[in-house]
Amino acid sequence: MKHNQYLLVFDFDETMAATKKPGPHNIGLRDAHQISIKRIFGERGADSFQAIGGLQNRAPLELVSALLSQDLRLQETAKMYFIRNCGRLKNIQWKDDDPIGSVTEVFVTEKMFVYASELGKHPGGVIWPEPCKGFLSLLDSLRELKEKGIPIDLAILSAGHTPFIKKTFKAWGYPLPKVVLSDDEVRYINCPIERKIKPSTFLLYLVQKRLARLHGKINLPLKDAKEMRLKMAYFGDDLERDGELARRAGIPFGWFTPGTIFQAIDNGIRFSDWQVIANHLRDEETFVDMLAGKSMREIFGIA
Ligand SMILES: [Mg+2]
Repeated sequence: MKHNQYLLVFDFDETMAATKKPGPHNIGLRDAHQISIKRIFGERGADSFQAIGGLQNRAPLELVSALLSQDLRLQETAKMYFIRNCGRLKNIQWKDDDPIGSVTEVFVTEKMFVYASELGKHPGGVIWPEPCKGFLSLLDSLRELKEKGIPIDLAILSAGHTPFIKKTFKAWGYPLPKVVLSDDEVRYINCPIERKIKPSTFLLYLVQKRLARLHGKINLPLKDAKEMRLKMAYFGDDLERDGELARRAGIPFGWFTPGTIFQAIDNGIRFSDWQVIANHLRDEETFVDMLAGKSMREIFGIA
């Protein structure tokens, strides 16, 4: 792969798309989790969810394993739920030797059922989820850079789900980024859970590998992955997960936080409107810097 390739990697929920804000049927990210948990595990599940401090941007496998370790009886409750609803949950195979994995599949499927009524374009033109402030302008600015001959790609790294992300981009009328690494691609990987959740940099390596493959490279040696990172940046809304991942990977971090002022932070920048990033990418100086192959740190003026 050409080493002049730039890559911006984005978290999805509350970074690209405002999924916390409920849709026309009053269901947002938190509600969908709460409703699914209550359906599968009943009141005891709802209590455990509260006891573990709510969602906290946990990936499904991580959430389920936290719930089950909070209350061991929940595993049996979930199995009973699966048996009662196996017609509707027909794509799931319950594995007694992998209860956490099995419960996670039930949970993810149920969550998608809950989201189904909200997702996409509704009569009257209402779209859910909406893009975060200025995000479509950022997508436009990336397309413009590409049209001007800058090799720049974008990728999504999310603990959410690919069909959800796909439908969102369709509703926005924008093409889906070529690389989408969501929980759907990651949760089956046979490795310790810590490696499969943010802030594990293994996830970023998987994103890079996918991009490399799109450029015709079967393997991505770590040395090359490291070199690629000079021209990468990562954007997210969660400092502990997204920000820490970027720090560990040695790439600059853009912290999207609505309601704050633009400021420099350790290893990156903090901003509340994507228009700021879009404007910077549209700047003539940025174009010249990218043509010259400068690093992402130089382009964003991050020490
Ligand atoms: Mg997020």
